Amino acid sequence: MEVHVRASDLERIVAHARRALPDEACGVLGGVFEKGVAVVRRILPVRNTAANPRQRFDMDALEMVRAIFRLRQTGLEVVGLYHSHPDASAEPSATDIAQATWDDVAHVIVGQPAAATPDVRAWAIRKGQARPALLIVTVQ
Ligand SMILES: [Zn+2]
Repeated sequence: MEVHVRASDLERIVAHARRALPDEACGVLGGVFEKGVAVVRRILPVRNTAANPRQRFDMDALEMVRAIFRLRQTGLEVVGLYHSHPDASAEPSATDIAQATWDDVAHVIVGQPAAATPDVRAWAIRKGQARPALLIVTVQ
């Protein structure tokens, strides 16, 4: 799997992860699939409704539906999901892998968002296995 994200959108994801501290941030990556590449065009933050948001995330169901609806209105679809690990690296946790039910989307994780250079990585998670995805940062 390959993910293309604009530098400005990547900054938005990191800014959201920093704003959410000490909690995990989460959201939807809207875009298009072009020849199997997930091309991100919009970042839609979603409220984390987990009971223990410092250690996990649950996307607010209604906000999620609204985000998908807004994307469809502009001809985009969900190409990825993102969340942050306030105190850990960008490796998917066992929970992340167990919760990933959406096979075709990319999973972007921001590790240690407070760091000067956060650990941002993308993953393909299928059938209980996480594989690194190529995350390419584009200028436009
Ligand atoms: Zn996680």
